[in-house]
Amino acid sequence: MTVFGSCNMDLVAYAATAPGRGETVHGKAFHTVPGGKGANQAIAAARAEANTRFVGAVGTDRFGEQIRGTLHEAGVDTSGLRTVEGNSGTAHIVVDDEGDNSIVVVAGANAEVDHVDETARELIASSSCLLMQLETPLEGVEAAARTAAAHGVRVILTPAPAEPLPTSLLSTVNLLVPNEHEAAVLTGEREPEPALEALLDSVEEVVITLGKRGVLYGNRSGQRLRVPAFAVHAVDTTAAGDTFVGAFGAALARDKPVETALREGSAAAAVSIQRKGASSSMPTEREIREFLDE
Ligand code: ADP
Repeated sequence: MTVFGSCNMDLVAYAATAPGRGETVHGKAFHTVPGGKGANQAIAAARAEANTRFVGAVGTDRFGEQIRGTLHEAGVDTSGLRTVEGNSGTAHIVVDDEGDNSIVVVAGANAEVDHVDETARELIASSSCLLMQLETPLEGVEAAARTAAAHGVRVILTPAPAEPLPTSLLSTVNLLVPNEHEAAVLTGEREPEPALEALLDSVEEVVITLGKRGVLYGNRSGQRLRVPAFAVHAVDTTAAGDTFVGAFGAALARDKPVETALREGSAAAAVSIQRKGASSSMPTEREIREFLDE
């Protein structure tokens, strides 16, 4: 599969409280970790053993090399990851003692993921599916979806961050995977069941992720499924949705039935949230299998 989208370096500082305007506070700890929804989804898919390619951009700074290295180590093909002059995308995150976040995201190189070049076209055209999010410019997402549609490649979109989507884009998406909040923004429906029905007016298949309440699936043939979440002790739910969709897409890319893909995605998310970290906590195919006791 090909994942098209964003990658960042997350710069994470821990402090008792986040600074107010004009204020400086002492922090307790700091770390950097590659992130961004696109990179996270690609790493989740590659760990779940899909043949995964990533299309995106990093800058000429040191973060760019580190992001590329992390994707490569996870087994992601980075031949579609361009290096463009300037900074890589960064997310400046302060985590306070309550576990709440304040985040400044600077797009950097992600702003240049606004088209499909020849390398990207070849990667997308030869994939079983294309997985995307909305952290890069909409023109690029639309161009990638059109390329996939022209080659009969299944398009999966995570509509995050939530924003109203043009019908031209929705008409090229096969499978939409919003969380509960995103489904509500797209449809105006607060409850997942009516939101699912409303979304099926625009796309063939929909998965709404419901956090610890699992996932809801529906398609235009009238099939409806609810897969409960696994009962686990959540330590860090960062990127639960990206882990779910990466492993779910990996299973679909390997021609598994949708019920199996939903179960494997839920298992991957359940394993990852029991450990601290985002991409570093995503399980391998073997760990998913062990968790499912298969
Ligand atoms: P997002 O991270 O995009 O907001 P969700 O919170 O809906 O996405 O989580 C995605 C999936 O991860 C859920 O559908 C579920 O399978 C799994 N998950 C999330 N939180 C929990 C939890 N507390 N316990 C078990 N599984 C969870």
